[in-house]
Amino acid sequence: MTELRTVTLATADHGDVTLPEPSWCAGHAHHDPQTLLVDLIHAGPTVDLDHSGAPLFTAELVQSPYAEPSDPRLGGRTPGVSVHPLGQTLDSTSLYCLAADLDRYADQLRDLADQLATALGGES
Ligand SMILES: [Zn+2]
Repeated sequence: MTELRTVTLATADHGDVTLPEPSWCAGHAHHDPQTLLVDLIHAGPTVDLDHSGAPLFTAELVQSPYAEPSDPRLGGRTPGVSVHPLGQTLDSTSLYCLAADLDRYADQLRDLADQLATALGGES
């Protein structure tokens, strides 16, 4: 029998709140006890894209179990993937679209590298 994992978090407006902890949540080591109940958030490990030390993209699974209903792209009760610097929480369909856009962009970068090599007189 699997036991439901829970976590107890202090909130500014509802005291200690015990809630189910999703298996993908990376934990709440940096939880701020002044957080409001509606702002409680589960977040998974980040997936980062850095180049030469510059952060380009960060993505992570997120869920705000007590969020007020709002635009799903701003996050909410349904788990999604928060993407920065896009500043949106995406569903799986939108995330696949973003991945396809990045694939196309990587192809364009390779084309530019080919053009550069040609411009410099090299063979590509
Ligand atoms: Zn959590």
